[in-house]
Amino acid sequence: MPDSLAPELPLRPDLVGEQPYGAPQLDVPHLLNVNENPYAPPAEVIEDIATSVAAAAAGLNRYPDRDFRDLRAELAAYLERESGASGLTADHLWAANGSNEVMLHLLQAFGGPGRAVMSFGPTYSMYPEYARDSHTHWVEGSRRPDYSLDPDATIAHIAQVRPAVVLLASPNNPTGTALPLADVRAIADACATTGPDGAATILVVDEAYAEFRRKGTPSALSVLADYPHMAVARTMSKAFALAGARVGYLAAAPRLVDCLRIVRLPYHLSAVTQAVARAALRHTDALQAQVTQLRAERDACVTWLRDQGFTVADTDANFVLFGPFEDRHAVWQGLLDRGVLIRETGPKQYLRVSIGTVDQMAAFRGALKEVTGR
Ligand SMILES: *Cc1c(COP(=O)(O)O)cnc(C)c1O
Repeated sequence: MPDSLAPELPLRPDLVGEQPYGAPQLDVPHLLNVNENPYAPPAEVIEDIATSVAAAAAGLNRYPDRDFRDLRAELAAYLERESGASGLTADHLWAANGSNEVMLHLLQAFGGPGRAVMSFGPTYSMYPEYARDSHTHWVEGSRRPDYSLDPDATIAHIAQVRPAVVLLASPNNPTGTALPLADVRAIADACATTGPDGAATILVVDEAYAEFRRKGTPSALSVLADYPHMAVARTMSKAFALAGARVGYLAAAPRLVDCLRIVRLPYHLSAVTQAVARAALRHTDALQAQVTQLRAERDACVTWLRDQGFTVADTDANFVLFGPFEDRHAVWQGLLDRGVLIRETGPKQYLRVSIGTVDQMAAFRGALKEVTGR
């Protein structure tokens, strides 16, 4: 059928002209653009995953465990060990295909027409997309020049907007900024009454990069028990080196988790995904062996960039935001021409580099020196 005769598709008017989200997936030697763990899973983990998937395959004629209670209990045990929080059980955990889907569940359950979701920029560029896709009004507040949150101003803005959901990434993407625990507490206290019609605002602390935080930086999990309207989101995509498996999760009070169970699709977490995640959790130490090295490499990268005269944001994540550049696209392109792919994101004059292997970081430094002539 010629195009001119094809019927018009009734795409939602607010989606007309929208582009699918995503950084370029290019085939270059040094992929330092999407904050992946540069180290592949070790051989013993690959083997356990393969055996576990084979066992799951024998039952693939059946739908998977809809409530995946074994995985939830194992994630709870991991979080207690990682953060020192206590009292977490399967009922406190929720999981989906990446923490992006977990956060979409939050918006589907608590957002919607006539409601607002807030965050504070510069921050994760997916947040406005959850808002758009769930018909929730998007409001973006601001951060201080050093990318930290001003708790008083943040609380005042939240009280004025009365959002159903507030999303705070800590460490924040793309800046690397972690939230002090006192600020989490102050904002969570306020959120108890700032939601629609006198209800609470759901405060989501998105800790996708928590395992990379510097010594002494706490996790919001340590105060979770005090806040029935708070959720702490995590992912296996970054520290666990499992981005390809698509496993994200959150911890929250069981009553909040029950709200998410209403909106999830039936059997949303496949038997294969559950088997992969459970196998990976049995090898937490091996999978996270490189996290210590990546943190050291991150700190060295910050120091080196500062020594070259760049402005660099303090970072608790596995990436570094640096600049300023008059023409950041030219620098990005110059690095790409030398086989190093980083990310053009965040404040206009800045670039973000994910921490790679020792060799990749050397390639990044060499290429940046050539491109900028420093
Ligand atoms: C990478 C990232 C996530 C996790 O995404 P997944 O869907 O779990 O792969 C969540 N939040 C932020 C801020 C991120 O950068």
